[in-house]
Amino acid sequence: MIKLYVLFFLLTVFIMLACVVYIATRHIIKKNKLNISIIQLLIVGIVTTLAYCLAITAREELYAELGYATYFAGIDWILITFMFYARHYTKIWQDTYAAPLITTTIAVIDNISIFHNFKWHHAFMLKQVTIGEDWFYSFAINDYYVVHLVFCYILVALIVLMFAQKTLQTSGFHRNRYLSILVMFTGIILLNVLYLFFDYPVDVSICLYSVASIFVSYYTLMYNPKTFVEFMLSTITERMECALISFDENDSYIYSNQVANRMFCQSGDKKLLEERFRKWREGKDANSISNANWNDIYNINGDEYRFDVHFNKVYDKKGFYCGCYFSFYDVTGDFLAYEEEKYRNSHDSLTGALKRESFYEEVRRILDENPHTEYVMVCTNIKGFKLINDMYGVDEGDKLLIRCSDLIREKISSASAFARLESDRFAILMPKNRYSEELFMTGMNQVSHFMNNSQYRMVILVGVYDIFDRHATVVSMCDGAFLAIDSIKDSFKNSIAYYGDMLRREYMSEQKILGEFEEALQTGQFAMFLQPVVTTDGRMTLCEALVRWIHPSRGIIAPVSFIPLLERTGYIYKLDQYIWEQAAKRLAYWTSLGHDELSISVNVSVKDFYYMDIYDTLVSLVEKYHIDPSRLKIEITESIFMTEKERQIEIITSLKEYGFLIEIDDFGSGYSSLNMLKEVPADILKMDMAFLSVDKNQNRGRKIVNTIITLAKALGMMVIIEGVETEEQLDYLKGTGADYLQGYYFNKPLPVKKFEDIYL
Ligand code: C2E
Ligand code: CA
Ligand code: CA
Repeated sequence: MIKLYVLFFLLTVFIMLACVVYIATRHIIKKNKLNISIIQLLIVGIVTTLAYCLAITAREELYAELGYATYFAGIDWILITFMFYARHYTKIWQDTYAAPLITTTIAVIDNISIFHNFKWHHAFMLKQVTIGEDWFYSFAINDYYVVHLVFCYILVALIVLMFAQKTLQTSGFHRNRYLSILVMFTGIILLNVLYLFFDYPVDVSICLYSVASIFVSYYTLMYNPKTFVEFMLSTITERMECALISFDENDSYIYSNQVANRMFCQSGDKKLLEERFRKWREGKDANSISNANWNDIYNINGDEYRFDVHFNKVYDKKGFYCGCYFSFYDVTGDFLAYEEEKYRNSHDSLTGALKRESFYEEVRRILDENPHTEYVMVCTNIKGFKLINDMYGVDEGDKLLIRCSDLIREKISSASAFARLESDRFAILMPKNRYSEELFMTGMNQVSHFMNNSQYRMVILVGVYDIFDRHATVVSMCDGAFLAIDSIKDSFKNSIAYYGDMLRREYMSEQKILGEFEEALQTGQFAMFLQPVVTTDGRMTLCEALVRWIHPSRGIIAPVSFIPLLERTGYIYKLDQYIWEQAAKRLAYWTSLGHDELSISVNVSVKDFYYMDIYDTLVSLVEKYHIDPSRLKIEITESIFMTEKERQIEIITSLKEYGFLIEIDDFGSGYSSLNMLKEVPADILKMDMAFLSVDKNQNRGRKIVNTIITLAKALGMMVIIEGVETEEQLDYLKGTGADYLQGYYFNKPLPVKKFEDIYL
């Protein structure tokens, strides 16, 4: 019989040991106090149980007494460690150290006392008890044992109190955790009471230690109530900002969170949700996909919402479909922010009109999407807008621009697109049949009325380009409209100009010239013509290189037809470089014939300064052809004063220092001629008779010519008078002290061969 008990107790030890190993390997990793307190409790339990086994199996009194003493002491420590565990587990009295300290101290004293039982036998006495044929050592209690018992029951009371308090104070989900341990603990105590007070031979409560160790380990470390998990999950989904809706395998509604209900199912009728999503599934071949992601727009209470929608199917472990859920993320805010950003990038912040690039794109799109609608491009320009800014301040200028764009928006609602291309330049694309002159006239009058007063009259110019070639670039359409404006730029009242046939022809021919230029240059269609420059006594030592385009079909084209265009577009530098090389080559050739007294003047455009290194180009030419730089004369005009004057003067000065001679061409034709004289270290001043209208007002003109020549001489410059056409002019010029003369009177610009035949 006793052996059977011992077997049970050893089984209990084994189970406790298993729990220790389990916790030590699986849970000790999270080395927290709770885990450690359980292990301590179990180890004390094991020791106590083994001690009890020793006591009841001992055949000698000494071992039996040792067993019982250890067993009684062990009960103290079981309760103490249980209390420590309870502190960590229930989190009650965690902050007080008094109770643990006092109880531990008392336990130590109690232990010392119990182990003195060997001497004094004040706690218990051994007695032999027979069960059936078997006997074993049991014990009879003495007076001191009561002290030990009282101490133990105080500990029991404390523990029960802790668990009872925790059970009452915790949420319904967790009550089981504490209640179960409380019940189990009370059960063991009751059994122990049974053993002590009802004289049951063996302490059967020890058997329950195994159950207790499993309870403690399970409820403390592993137990997670299902209802609680569900509760947590649904709370989380309720609080999520996205809308969640789920359906089972038959597409029947299961669950939707609050956000979803608020947005999609205000009536509360969940059938609506089912219908709504069954519709979607029909459209989207939902059988073959396991998840999908798309964007959708929903109208909720009259507001438009944008959602990032996710659809996911759920499968069980074996891969059987069990349901699906939708999640809707409201991206309306992001979308609006993105739209706003896009708007800011494409629209002018001041007027709200489109910006240039966006306008070009928009126009392209409209033209491509409406191939059968005819359109016009209307551009406007406020005359002298800079002056308005200067006179009234930038704020007023801005107000005016806002007014302009408001009027365009309001009056010309038929505009398909409209933009502020730059400062005061607006462009409007509109269907041709909606355009009318009155519309713009009244608009323009209204805007100019806004600014007009006694000191200032505002004038708005409008250019209209009829889009006849809708595949041309939008830039060229706007250019066309502005070209029309250019044709009326001297107007003093609001007016409208059309990019008409004349302008169109001009534009087309310009496009043609630009298209042909490169090839013409490669194939030598540009020829250098030479016009002699003679001294007053008829000797020729100088000539001017003037370009001619010998066009294969159109014959000889004069520079006026292409030079201004090439200057505007920047291509002039290619042509000039070519002509300069022709001149240098010719000078070298003439040297070889023994004519090293002859010079050639070449023309330099202001644009050449931007597109190439003039100094490098000219220096390498004279070096390449081994000619004296003074024989290549450089003609510049005062247009170089328009921008970056200092830089240009610096280049000219270094050319002069290298040995080139500098001529100021067309002196007197502009307004900064005198400035040129002052600032440019030129060697020769060149003046056209035509500019001085010598013929119309002969006397005044001649006086001016005389004075300029005197001035030039005083500055140490030589003078060339060009445009000499008559003998009369020649006679007069002979007496003025001019050094050289050039003009049709002597000869026109000639092809090089002809020039050489005559003059060499
Ligand atoms: P420019 O430099 O003032 O050249 C003088 C212009 O006056 C030449 O016109 C010439 O043919 C013309 N001319 C000469 N004598 C008389 C005359 O007695 N009466 C009248 N009415 N005109 C006369 P062209 O050759 O048509 O050149 C026009 C302009 O084109 C030149 O004016 C020059 O600015 C520019 N140009 C010509 N060739 C070149 C060149 O190779 N490069 C650059 N950058 N410009 C050039
Ligand atoms: Ca010239
Ligand atoms: Ca000239």
